[in-house]
Amino acid sequence: VKDYLKNIEDNKHLNVFLEVYADEALKRAEEVDTRIAEGNAGKLAGMVVGIKDVIAHQGHGLQASSKILDGFVSQFSATVIERLLDEDAIIIGRQSCDEFAMGSSNENSAFGPVLNNVDNSRVPGGSSGASAVAVSADLCLVSLGSDTGGSVRQPAAFTGVVGLKPTYSRISRWGLIAYASSFDTIGVLAKNVEDAAITLEVIAGADEHDATVSDKPVPQYSASVKSSEDRKYRIGYIRETVESEHLNEDIKANTFEKIASLKAAGHDVEPVDFPLLDYLLPTYYILTTAEASTNLSRFDGVRYGTRSENTEDIESMYKLTRSEGFGEEVKRRIMLGTFVLSASYYDAYFTKAQKVRRLIKEASEKLLSNHDFLLMPTTASTAFEIGKYNENNILEMYLGDLYTVHANLAGLPAISIPNGEDSQGLPIGLQVMANRFEEEKMLTFADYLA
Ligand code: GLN
Repeated sequence: VKDYLKNIEDNKHLNVFLEVYADEALKRAEEVDTRIAEGNAGKLAGMVVGIKDVIAHQGHGLQASSKILDGFVSQFSATVIERLLDEDAIIIGRQSCDEFAMGSSNENSAFGPVLNNVDNSRVPGGSSGASAVAVSADLCLVSLGSDTGGSVRQPAAFTGVVGLKPTYSRISRWGLIAYASSFDTIGVLAKNVEDAAITLEVIAGADEHDATVSDKPVPQYSASVKSSEDRKYRIGYIRETVESEHLNEDIKANTFEKIASLKAAGHDVEPVDFPLLDYLLPTYYILTTAEASTNLSRFDGVRYGTRSENTEDIESMYKLTRSEGFGEEVKRRIMLGTFVLSASYYDAYFTKAQKVRRLIKEASEKLLSNHDFLLMPTTASTAFEIGKYNENNILEMYLGDLYTVHANLAGLPAISIPNGEDSQGLPIGLQVMANRFEEEKMLTFADYLA
């Protein structure tokens, strides 16, 4: 804990932590030390964990990096937090993110941009950018983030760490601030696959507080990662994604190199077609903004956080609190979501997108019943310069999510692992996607690849 606290102090310029729980973490470390000495410490004894500012931790601030939740203190802990603490993990602080987890660069935080530790002029990705930097720069061992359309995997790729998004419903969302509830999953950022696996095994599984969580038994993921099983896999890659002219040349080359080495090792790797590719992004942005616009209606100045000081009546209180409290990107998404849900457009956009999502889900599961995994780059580019995207070209940033939204639309597990660097020394990520609840196989393969 002392080492991490020193690293946090030395790296303040990266703007990662909104709050550091120094005294609390040191005290807890002593308690855990005692339990280790007594031989009754938990599975994660001494694991120092950072938490994205969207996960509730009793008695601690929680605000999704938004002004609208200034001063809010959580009255209960998320299920994942309780499970970490039960196994003697040590929580070191809460980390910045894009406001309400909306974004791909961590520039949308009310607390300013977070810097990529590999190159300070670049973004760390988002929305769990700070959580990824924290692991990459040794400010903690593991971070918990959230992944609605890539927010754990994309920053993992941009900072050279492992980012795991499990099957939808594998981990309880109790205590996670909702962005788009049917897409949201809590995910893990770690230095290696084994750390991600052991964390998943602790936090996953049935929870009486969240009816959407699966009660499927949780495998001992960390044990299977270590098993040196020598299986030959059948792996598909979606032709257009890997051959795309929009894909950065170095990423393309690294991905094809990996494919070649898998073939040489006796795996069956082949291009596959996925005709619904063009529908991934529109479907994602219609459905997530719709869900976000309803989820965010609860922030009204009455129940949580701050209230505008200039209000005259209840109507102006709602309006002013929301106008002053939410940032630009959050407002943009509320507007988009409200539009696609409005009476005249509901069927044309929302209902249509729901139907397309079903087709995407079915087609993906079918592909993955014939293949063990789908392999693809995590991102089309490496970390980009801070300030590259603004309200004039924001759509281009949305387009960057092409490779990651697929897993969330279909509810499938996916993991990003480091796969070398581009010519400028920036990390490249490789993504493995598997069928529902096949985390065990996916993690074993990812560890073999890494
Ligand atoms: N970049 C995507 C978005 O802006 C993903 C965000 C996320 O996964 N929370 O919606």
